[in-house]
Amino acid sequence: MNQADPKPSLNFIEAIIEEDLRNNKNESRIHTRFPPEPNGYLHIGHAKSICLNFGLAEKYKGMCNLRFDDTNPTKEEEEYVESIIEDISWLGFDWEGRLFYASDYFDQLYEWAEKLISDGKAYVDELTSAEISEQRGTVTKAGEESPFRDRAVEENLELFRAMRDGKFKEGEKVLRAKIDMSSPNMHMRDPVIYRVLHESHQRTGDKWCVYPMYDFAHGQSDYFEGITHSICTLEFEIHRPLYDWFLDNLIDTKYRPRQIEFARLNISYTVMSKRKLLELVEEGLVNGWDDPRLPTISGLRRRGYTPEAIRNFADRVGVAKRDNVIDVALLEHSLREDLNVKAPRVMAVLNPLKVVITNYPEDKEEELPAENNPEDESMGSRMIPFSREIYIEKEDFMEDPPKKFFRLAPGKEVRLKNAYIINCESVVKNPDTGEITELHCTYDPETKSGMPNSAKKVKGTLHWVSAQHAIDAEVRLYDRLFLDEDPAGKKDGSDFKDYLNPDSLKILNNCKLEPDYAAAKAGDHFQFQRIGYFVVDTVDSVEGKPVFNRTVPLRDSWARKNK
Ligand code: ATP
Ligand code: MG
Repeated sequence: MNQADPKPSLNFIEAIIEEDLRNNKNESRIHTRFPPEPNGYLHIGHAKSICLNFGLAEKYKGMCNLRFDDTNPTKEEEEYVESIIEDISWLGFDWEGRLFYASDYFDQLYEWAEKLISDGKAYVDELTSAEISEQRGTVTKAGEESPFRDRAVEENLELFRAMRDGKFKEGEKVLRAKIDMSSPNMHMRDPVIYRVLHESHQRTGDKWCVYPMYDFAHGQSDYFEGITHSICTLEFEIHRPLYDWFLDNLIDTKYRPRQIEFARLNISYTVMSKRKLLELVEEGLVNGWDDPRLPTISGLRRRGYTPEAIRNFADRVGVAKRDNVIDVALLEHSLREDLNVKAPRVMAVLNPLKVVITNYPEDKEEELPAENNPEDESMGSRMIPFSREIYIEKEDFMEDPPKKFFRLAPGKEVRLKNAYIINCESVVKNPDTGEITELHCTYDPETKSGMPNSAKKVKGTLHWVSAQHAIDAEVRLYDRLFLDEDPAGKKDGSDFKDYLNPDSLKILNNCKLEPDYAAAKAGDHFQFQRIGYFVVDTVDSVEGKPVFNRTVPLRDSWARKNK
């Protein structure tokens, strides 16, 4: 939160928690959990939920568990479990050893299913899933009761055990809670709570042929773990009566978890559902789950996002009760704010144009001091080499410039950052193509720092690197993955992939950097002066040959484009 912001008032979840604390509910314990399904990589929406759950535990001196909601063995994989653990740790949160799996509770859940059967509150149904959904009715029309609804308890128990023992095929039989086929809430119309799945589970192996449905596992898992506030997104609001029904019918303690829903985070110019992200990955439209263009946490990390930027962003967007879309510019703003104070400045030329300083001695070279970060003196300074031939950015020169072009042009002066003022005397071109290959300039030796003319004013300052000292680097210019603000929200039948930005990645192979940056380490952040923030790629960099990813330009270029 910005220092100048007034002290924020409580969000609605904090208000609930404080009320519960005042009433000494659940002995004033605060215990939350983050419950990912290990069926994909985490994205920035999950980060919001992580910051919220772990953040509340921190604020109220409670605890937050990490629980894998692994009730669906068909889509879940160990790779996802590992990536989720890595991402949450990277964000800076600690579950203090309380790492659980819904599958840890399969035995107890199974027993509770038998308890419901014994209490006459669940039955084995033989209808097909198509028949079940047909008989469920509609919002305006009550559902029909299954012909198997009134089986005797003993028969239900026998059939359910046979389901467990693998005697039935998938879909042949299911266990349903016996609630109310005319409830206005469709989720209360005898929901399926257990299904047959002949699928090996990544943790329980082949032990089970029946698996609990999400609704039958979630609230109960919360209960087993002593969770007090079970925070989830709005789509579960309609499941809440069922969450409570199971607890009402299975436990009789004073303690009980409470489900609270908030609006999921949506961000413009991206897609956030794991299913869509998986599609992009599987179809090779991006380079894996950690592609720097994806909103996955691993993608953001590789792009150069910092945990602090993501946590600040999560704080800023707050907690809403209604769905909304957050401008991606806010996420980028949080990032710039963090990198501005952390990232050392360096000069890098992305599209080099050679400049020969004709009055600078051929065999001379010197070292000039340069500040590492004007925002933070403690980051010190470095020496950068200067010599007769340097590179500047192609776009910083125009042969025939418009009036307000304050960069280099024939007969014009500019300052070279940390060095001298130069004057462009002539332009050398390739005689065949007419392409500009070199500029010939002169410098004024009296204009460097500490010299009599150092304060001389010129309109433009350019970044540059010494040609003979520069190292070559590959630079990847990443941009937004989608051209449309809301690629997944169209009602015109178009697919979100129709809106992919064809220019979301440009690779530049001939960039020139200050020589010290050959030693930059994977994950190091820099500001390329006048250009943007960059990070050393963690995957493709090799020693002495870093690959740089553009994290974000210095300013929001999209805001200008769209004006
Ligand atoms: P998706 O819908 O993106 O595929 P999911 O909800 O199926 O994600 P889960 O693994 O079930 O993914 O999510 C774990 C937790 O993260 C849940 O509590 C869920 O409510 C929360 N969560 C998921 N997406 C968002 C989001 N965009 N904003 C906030 N919280 C989210
Ligand atoms: Mg989910």
